[in-house]
Amino acid sequence: TNGGSGGKNDNICVCIRKRPLNDKERKKKEHDAVTVLHPTATVHSAKLRVDGIHKYLDHNSFRFDHSFDEDSSTEQVYQYTAQPLVSYVCGGRGVRATVFAYGQTGSGKTHTMSGIQKMVADDIFSFLSDNVLEDDSCCSCDNTTISIAIFEIYGGRIQDLLNKRNRLKVLEDGRGEVVISGLEEFEASTPEDFLALIEAGQNNRTTHATEANDESSRSHSICQVLFRDSTSRRLKAKLSLVDLAGSERGSDTKSHNRQRRTESSDINTSLLALKECIRAIDGDSRHVPYRQSKLTLILKDSFTSNYARTAMIATLAPGSLSTDHTVNTLRYADRIKEK
Ligand code: ADP
Ligand code: MG
Repeated sequence: TNGGSGGKNDNICVCIRKRPLNDKERKKKEHDAVTVLHPTATVHSAKLRVDGIHKYLDHNSFRFDHSFDEDSSTEQVYQYTAQPLVSYVCGGRGVRATVFAYGQTGSGKTHTMSGIQKMVADDIFSFLSDNVLEDDSCCSCDNTTISIAIFEIYGGRIQDLLNKRNRLKVLEDGRGEVVISGLEEFEASTPEDFLALIEAGQNNRTTHATEANDESSRSHSICQVLFRDSTSRRLKAKLSLVDLAGSERGSDTKSHNRQRRTESSDINTSLLALKECIRAIDGDSRHVPYRQSKLTLILKDSFTSNYARTAMIATLAPGSLSTDHTVNTLRYADRIKEK
């Protein structure tokens, strides 16, 4: 488990959020198999009655920077994860801040991220207009333009969610900058503009199919908030909000459908690469394995910038039929920081 307070801990925050048991799980007579007692999350894989007392067997306990139980609000999660990153990007030059939601389909990634996006929208514009920032800081209201780009990585394709799902290409130029060619970005001058763009992107993403066919569960969606100099258009700072593909999709490699199998192995590769890349933040940037997947290539500067900060929110479904996925999620999150 994570200990100490080395520099690494300041730049990477790993937390978990458990959602409440829902009606569907109750109908299936599932019990709540996850106990969260900050900073620890425990999965009980079996609940037995021994001498009239319920006993949990096979405890799997993990400690995180923050562990949020089913009664926590998205606002609380925000305060400890994304908000410090928002003030960091608003105040610094060259900053790359990245927030990830990781977890199995149905565990609350989109729920958490969309709530966070609303708070980000409000905070960015109030941080920029407050004169709390130093004069020469990256972003004061008069010299900074906020723009937004949203795209998804789905089955190896990169598609622009703010421009008719146009297919995009990613390339690394001669100076090592990663460019997503053709990606549209739109300016936002108010929180309302910001949220309208987010909503447009979200609508282009989801197909609202049955859960098993839900495309959003097989795609990584990335929302970039770009802080540009109003005159030169130069990029000053970037905040990326990433709603990852369902983590269970990576292991769904037994499907009879060939396309599904390929997608699963892509997702598996990208999630494993992501873990390694986050682990490499603060190390020698030449050793970050960001070329292992499109996801990590696109996020290269999130791992290699000298001003990179990351928050990982691992979301947990509490039901007793999900314990395998839940333990996998906890292990993944645990490995992000464990040395
Ligand atoms: P995912 O994006 O991980 O597939 P969703 O965010 O779509 O999962 O969540 C699945 C369902 O559970 C949604 O109906 C959502 O509103 C609900 N839900 C998720 N997290 C919470 C929470 N913390 N509190 C209450 N409901 C939640
Ligand atoms: Mg989702």
